[in-house]
Amino acid sequence: MIGGGIAGLAAAHRLVELTSTVPYGLDVTLLEAAPRLGGSIATEHRDGYVIEAGPDAFLTEKPWAVALCERLGLADRLIGTRADRRRTYVLHGGRLRRLPEGFALMAPTRLGSVWRSDLFTWRGKARMALDLVLPRGPDRDDESLAAFVTRRFGREVLDRVAEPLVAGIYTADAATLSLRATMPRLLDLERRHRSLILALRRARPAGDGAGRQAGPGGSSGPRWGLFATPDAGMGLLISALASRLPAGAMRLGAGVRAIVPSGNPGAPARYRIVVDGGPAVPADGVVVAARAPEAAALVEELDPRLADLLRSIPYASSATTTLAFDRRQIAHPLDAFGFVVPRAEHVPLLACTFCSVKFAGRAPEGRVLLRAFAGGALRHDDLARDDDALAAMTEAALRPLLGISGRPHLVRVHRHAGAMPQYLLGHGARVAQIEARAHAHAGLALAGGAYRGIGIPDCIHSGEEAAERVLGAIVPQSAARR
Ligand SMILES: Cc1cc2nc3c(=O)[nH]c(=O)nc-3n(C[C@H](O)[C@H](O)[C@H](O)COP(=O)(O)OP(=O)(O)OC[C@H]3O[C@@H](n4cnc5c(N)ncnc54)[C@H](O)[C@@H]3O)c2cc1C
Repeated sequence: MIGGGIAGLAAAHRLVELTSTVPYGLDVTLLEAAPRLGGSIATEHRDGYVIEAGPDAFLTEKPWAVALCERLGLADRLIGTRADRRRTYVLHGGRLRRLPEGFALMAPTRLGSVWRSDLFTWRGKARMALDLVLPRGPDRDDESLAAFVTRRFGREVLDRVAEPLVAGIYTADAATLSLRATMPRLLDLERRHRSLILALRRARPAGDGAGRQAGPGGSSGPRWGLFATPDAGMGLLISALASRLPAGAMRLGAGVRAIVPSGNPGAPARYRIVVDGGPAVPADGVVVAARAPEAAALVEELDPRLADLLRSIPYASSATTTLAFDRRQIAHPLDAFGFVVPRAEHVPLLACTFCSVKFAGRAPEGRVLLRAFAGGALRHDDLARDDDALAAMTEAALRPLLGISGRPHLVRVHRHAGAMPQYLLGHGARVAQIEARAHAHAGLALAGGAYRGIGIPDCIHSGEEAAERVLGAIVPQSAARR
């Protein structure tokens, strides 16, 4: 296993699970370049706060993260989002306004709440309703999220909802983001039902005014109600996975330089894994769970064309700044999980999460924990500051929006350089080519957020599938050797 992020750990864990009952005689080794496991996932516990450096939750709708937590004995440690605050604000005209209830997959499902909203003009509202009568779009394999949303709902939904949500979730530009690779359901709904509003309304469970996102206080935003996280933070998932791997299976500070074919039919293994500053590791199977550019460097000698394809997946950088205050320092009611920031507002933030509102146990009583996101595909220049300047920029941006007085008790900046793969138009076709080439090398598999989903459940799924694929290629070999 190369890479000790969630995908590499899930792969290693799956191999251990699969081989625990059958004596295949396999050794599992996980090589991680950094001095710690987790990749983008890291949780800090400080002064009674639970501070997430990267992801703070995962979707429960996709089964793989919840299933893994169950197998790890963490099911009782999972908490959901607070039901009575499931809503999102959008910054518009310098003021935070509620995203109308019932926005599902960036499409409105409750026209009543849209009519009452001060987020859109009357013209914008009327344009949104046109979706009810518009014909299907032309049949095509892929379309940018911006083109699709504008075509169905008009420019205001793009500028005020879709673009900032996409910037917050994918740190991406909606104009180049592949809809097929990120939200294929929207394309499929249009193909089957024509009108998105009608299709999503039909999909709502009976009696649920706002669809599956609904909580007692109404809901909006990117499926807030469907997220879960360990009570002690996402780091618990990493430590639980690590604890299930055999002693000595994990090597930290072990940066892999290359995967080379052993080149000799009589060699003890198919590949030699060249590790910086250490002896090469022989391996019959390899799961590469590093980011795509790093994976490209590793397979360069093995398959230069595969390396080129991997390099064609671009990445964006972001940073999170976490700030803690006394509740009385903030005038805003904080009756939501946070807000998103459209580009047109010219505020140097992508979004802000009210962490201690979203999940219980994130801050001591009477305190508030906020986390703001900066950078992304469209705002990377904002990251060119040092940590102190980034924190000051964030604090200055939040102060008028939330009515903050006084200074924060705690400030933490976490950077995620080149951490977020960008699923550009045609991403699905690119990944199919990458997989076809990778599968031509027996015992080699790729895993991680670069390919078929950036979310934690998708990364876990990709790691587990890669482990199964590699095991399938190894078992005949290792059995033959015994
Ligand atoms: C700020 C932020 C917030 C996010 N929020 C959410 C969220 O709330 N919910 C959600 O579901 N997802 C979220 N995501 C996405 C999700 O966290 C990532 O997609 C996921 O963690 C990626 O996991 P991974 O294992 O593929 O890669 P990574 O976490 O990037 O791990 C790759 C590992 O490979 C190692 N490596 C690289 N090269 C080598 C080498 N040559 N040799 C050895 N090791 C190497 C790296 O050091 C790293 O540890 C967020 C991402 C970011 C950045």
